[in-house]
Amino acid sequence: MADLNKMTIAAARDALRKGDVTSAELTEACLGEIEGSGALNAFVHNTPEIARAQAAAADARLKAGDAPDMCGIPLGIKDLFCTKGVPSQAASNILKGFKPEYESTVTSQLFDAGAVMLGKLNMDEFAMGSSNETSAYGNAVNPWRRENDATPITPGGSSGGSASAVAADLCLAATGTDTGGSIRQPAAFTGITGIKPTYGRVSRWGVVAFASSLDQAGPMTKDVRDAAIMLEAMCGHDAKDSTSADLAVPNFEAMLTGDIRGKKIGIPREYRMDGMPAEIEKLWAEGTEMLKAAGAEIVDISLPHTKYALPAYYVIAPAEASSNLARYDGVRYGHRASLAAGDGITEMYEKTRAEGFGHEVQRRVMVGTYVLSAGFYDAYYNRARKVRTLIKRDFEDVFAAGIDAILTPATPSAAFGLGEMSEADPIAMYLNDVFTVTVNLAGLPGVAVPTGVDSQGLPLGLQLIGRPWEEGDLLNTAYALEQAAGFVAKPHKWW
Ligand code: GLN
Repeated sequence: MADLNKMTIAAARDALRKGDVTSAELTEACLGEIEGSGALNAFVHNTPEIARAQAAAADARLKAGDAPDMCGIPLGIKDLFCTKGVPSQAASNILKGFKPEYESTVTSQLFDAGAVMLGKLNMDEFAMGSSNETSAYGNAVNPWRRENDATPITPGGSSGGSASAVAADLCLAATGTDTGGSIRQPAAFTGITGIKPTYGRVSRWGVVAFASSLDQAGPMTKDVRDAAIMLEAMCGHDAKDSTSADLAVPNFEAMLTGDIRGKKIGIPREYRMDGMPAEIEKLWAEGTEMLKAAGAEIVDISLPHTKYALPAYYVIAPAEASSNLARYDGVRYGHRASLAAGDGITEMYEKTRAEGFGHEVQRRVMVGTYVLSAGFYDAYYNRARKVRTLIKRDFEDVFAAGIDAILTPATPSAAFGLGEMSEADPIAMYLNDVFTVTVNLAGLPGVAVPTGVDSQGLPLGLQLIGRPWEEGDLLNTAYALEQAAGFVAKPHKWW
């Protein structure tokens, strides 16, 4: 079989079971592809020995029969996941040299199911960013380019390495995490599928914390079926995460019938932003038509507090981050600054944090500390929490009125050139999250599905937002959209 690295999880699973291919072969195909992919800077720590050992174990298990769906599937793992004995730096210099003594729940569930780890993937530092440009490893690069234009393009962020690796077929799929859009925005920028599940669906244990009330892990895959298969393996109750839900995990793949007749799809008027590019408007209108043609009922809806979501997010996320990142003090993990004679513990903290954290992380820590400070707590943090409740209520109201899913653009533009936004006012970068942060604030599941290309040939995605805990239903609607859109474009290989 040729091009094993290009396979979907579903195709590889079926071929593995039939004995048409081995996990060792799939793994070698991906490892070979990774070797030639330095220009993408997607993988930041390669783990070929682990991959080969896991592949051999998977092949033995497959031979014995009754192997789970993920058995033998080569994956990339975002650097935010703690992987035992393997560098896990959250793309930060402050975690340089950190090799966890433990395995995150998500990765241990995937490995227990027989999945293979090819290595760790690039990302924005501590998952703060929308372009992968805040990474201590340097940015990952999107395998897509504008037509007749060699400008390097961002894969989005923060899961930029995951997106780039999946889009470039360096692995069959990857893990991502999403606090304000970090699975969905990079998925949309690279023409792949990414789902952020309901808050509490996937354990956060062993995932380096950014904003604990918003963080969720999810799969980034080549199509919707793969997202369903991989999500099932990542989900489930975990006593080690007190926010993990004790709910049964359905067979999401079995719910992909493509039948959405009679489903009510809401189109929120507040997502029609001023200055939205015509191409995004057009894509959204086309997606709406596709769902309608598949038998769904299209309903105009209102989510009136949408305009407050971005400001509320950029108070709550930094507040939680400033608290979560207090633990990086040069004592317990990773980097410690070298000290001058006479330096005390305060200098040690200050120098370590000044050296270890990049600019964006420092900005978030400062904003977060400010909004939590005694004099400003009520004015900023408490007010943002109240706004969050109103945003959540907006969604509850439309779901109570019978809406099954909400269709929006995933991003306000196609992927931009690396460097094009990083010099700008940070607010310009934050605007990337305008369609995605509401979903994290409300704790809902959201999925990005590639649906078209822009005039320069770059992929564009739409987002579907679902009812809490109904990822299966949401994925089925995404599946119907995927079938109708028929997005099959691939980046031309230049790396
Ligand atoms: N881009 C957003 C931020 O910088 C979201 C990041 C994320 O989801 N991890 O906070």
